Amino acid sequence: MTISTRTDTSTLIARSDLSMRDISPEIVAEQDRIVSLVRCGSYDREEVSNAVSECIGQLGGIGRYIKSGEKVAVKPNLLRAAPIDRAVTTHPEVVRAVCELLLSQKCEVVIADSPGGGTPFTERALRRSYSESGLDKVARELGIELNFNLSFKTVAAPNGRIIKRFSIIRAALDADAIISVPKLKTHLFTYMTGATKNTFGLIPGLEKATFHSRLPEADDFSEMLVDLNELVRPRLHVMDAVVAMEGNGPNAGKPRKIGAILSSESFAALDAAACMLMAISPAEVGVIKAAVGRGLLRRDLSDLRIVGADIQEMIVKDFKKPKSYIEARRSQSALWRALGRMSRAYALRPVMMKERCRGTENCGECMRACPRNAIRSRADRPVVDYGKCIRCYCCHEICPADAISLQRSFGGKIVKGMIDRKTKEA
Ligand code: SF4
Ligand code: SF4
Repeated sequence: MTISTRTDTSTLIARSDLSMRDISPEIVAEQDRIVSLVRCGSYDREEVSNAVSECIGQLGGIGRYIKSGEKVAVKPNLLRAAPIDRAVTTHPEVVRAVCELLLSQKCEVVIADSPGGGTPFTERALRRSYSESGLDKVARELGIELNFNLSFKTVAAPNGRIIKRFSIIRAALDADAIISVPKLKTHLFTYMTGATKNTFGLIPGLEKATFHSRLPEADDFSEMLVDLNELVRPRLHVMDAVVAMEGNGPNAGKPRKIGAILSSESFAALDAAACMLMAISPAEVGVIKAAVGRGLLRRDLSDLRIVGADIQEMIVKDFKKPKSYIEARRSQSALWRALGRMSRAYALRPVMMKERCRGTENCGECMRACPRNAIRSRADRPVVDYGKCIRCYCCHEICPADAISLQRSFGGKIVKGMIDRKTKEA
C-alpha cells in the first residue's frame, strides 16, 4: 500500500473509468460523501452476497475501487475472540461476500486485523480470533490467506493533527489497497464504532492501549482515529449492520437487528449514516466532529447523500444507546457545565464483579488492556486504582466474561442526583 498525504484526487487513483486530469476537486468532494444503503434481512449466504454486490454496485462496482490483480488487505472487526452470534465481530458471511467480489477481480486477498487493545498480536491470539469469528472457514473455502505476519512498521503521518507517527501492521502496508469491513456497534468511549474506528485494528496488539493513555479524552482520541484514516486511507468501507450491537458496546452490549449493509469510500459519511440508523446524533460523536473540523463532512450533513434504501424507514428508534452517551446528553445542562471540574467523580467507573471474573491468572485481559496500569491483581482478582483510572473503558471492552460493570462512586451519585433534579425542574 502506498502511504500518501492527502490530495484532492488520491482516493480515485484506482478508478479505471476516470482520468486524473478529468477530476475536479468539486467532483471528488461530492463523491466522497456518497453512502450506499441496502436492506439485508439475515446472514443467509445468498442474501448477504446479493446485498453486498448491490451495495457496492450502487457506488459503481468493485472495479471502481480495486484494479484487477491487486493485493488487497480485507480488514474486519475482530475485537476479541467471541462467538459469531454475540455480534462482537464482523459476520463471516459479509467478509466472505467482499472477498468473493475481490476474487472475481482476480485480486490476491489477505484477511488481516490486530484484535482489541488487551489482545497481544501473536499467532496464537490470531488463530483463536479467526476460529471463533468463522473467518478461518471462509479463508479455507475461498482459498485466501489469513494474516499471521506479526511484523509492523512505524510510518510518519505528516498531516496528522494530533499524532504524527503510527505503527501499522505489515499486512496492511504490504497490500496495494485496504478494504475495511466494520461491524456497527455502540461504544462506551466513542459512542459508536463503525468505519472510522475499525481502522484502529491496523495498530499492532498492545500498542493500541498507549493511545488511550496518551489521549484519555474521547474527542482527542477521535482526532487520532481520523489522523489514522487519513494516513492509511482504506479505498472502500463495507459495513455489517445486519445485526448490530446496542447498549454498552463494543463487547458487552446485545445484538440488535438493523437489517442493513452500507458502503462508502468516506469513513465519515458512512459513520454519520450509521449513527442515524442507531438513532444516535452524529453531531455528538467524536469521529464525526473531528471529520467535520477537517472539512471531510459538512456540519449540517447537507453533503451526505444516501443512495439505495430509504434510511428514514430503517432507523431503529428505540436502539439502546451506551450508558455514557445517555449520561452525556443529560449532563449538557448549565448546572453540569458549572460542575465540570467534578466530572471525574461523576463519570461511570469500572467495577469488577468477583463472582463472574475468571481470575487474573487464567485471564487477566483487563490488566493487559489498561493503558494506565490502573488494575492490579489481589487474591487472583483484579482491583482498580481509581486515582489512576482515566475512564477509557478498555477493560470493559475486552472482558470475555462480562465481569465488569459501570457504576458511579458515592460522590458521583450525589452529583448525578443534583443534575437530575435540576434537569427535571428546567
Ligand atoms: S474482570 Fe474480566 S478481563 Fe479481568 S480478569 Fe476477570 S474475567 Fe478477565
Ligand atoms: S481501569 Fe480505568 S484506565 Fe484502566 S482500562 Fe479500565 S477504565 Fe481504562
